[in-house]
Amino acid sequence: MILELGNTWSVLNQQKDEDNIERIRADFHIHSSFSPDSRFKIKDLIKSCTKNNLNLIAITDHHTIKGAQEIQAEAPFPVIIGQEILSSDGEIIGLFLNRTIKKHMSAKETVKAIKDQGGFVQIPHPFDRFRNNHINKKALVEILGEVDIIEVFNARTILTKDIDQSIQFYLDNKEKFNLHKVGVTDSHTSYEIGKSYTELPMYDGQDHFLDSLNHGTVIGKKMSPFIHAVTRYNTWVKKLNWA
Ligand SMILES: [Zn+2]
Repeated sequence: MILELGNTWSVLNQQKDEDNIERIRADFHIHSSFSPDSRFKIKDLIKSCTKNNLNLIAITDHHTIKGAQEIQAEAPFPVIIGQEILSSDGEIIGLFLNRTIKKHMSAKETVKAIKDQGGFVQIPHPFDRFRNNHINKKALVEILGEVDIIEVFNARTILTKDIDQSIQFYLDNKEKFNLHKVGVTDSHTSYEIGKSYTELPMYDGQDHFLDSLNHGTVIGKKMSPFIHAVTRYNTWVKKLNWA
């Protein structure tokens, strides 16, 4: 079932492409077993993406880009190297990175570290009240001029009104701050892969990436809240060295 989000949702995907450019399915927020809270092995991850017709992914592990680099080397489809960075103001994703970015810097410093590498700044699950680590509103407003992408839909966000708020935030600010939208799964398991995605025209190099996102369509399907229990379980399994 595709989630109905009322007016804000329908406003989102109004843009249509006039020309017949090939469109691809992408997911810009996926975790591998290199994240402390995922046991999603590289081989399984690649297989799962292929099976679910994803043509482009970003691996955004917590604290490291190592898994993303390995997946990029092995996958038969393009992989963007990303990282979900825990700043002292909450989580921020960097895309198109070459080096791991350290955690616990301020939002401003984190964004600067991403931009210094020529990366793009993506804000994950901006208003999800059940996540302790979502970016605080004050910091988000402060860095908005440097933000490139807003996750208007994250399949792990539990409350529809929190999703609605991120869509509204995007709509209110997209012109002024040149924001782009994505819908992501935030997958930590194969079960989640492909259920939500962003459809966009294939782009030619990083320089045309944001332009291509302007023509993107977001397809969102919410996960059951129980998916967070699986993540907590996996964190403990890894801490206790069970697997
Ligand atoms: Zn995540």
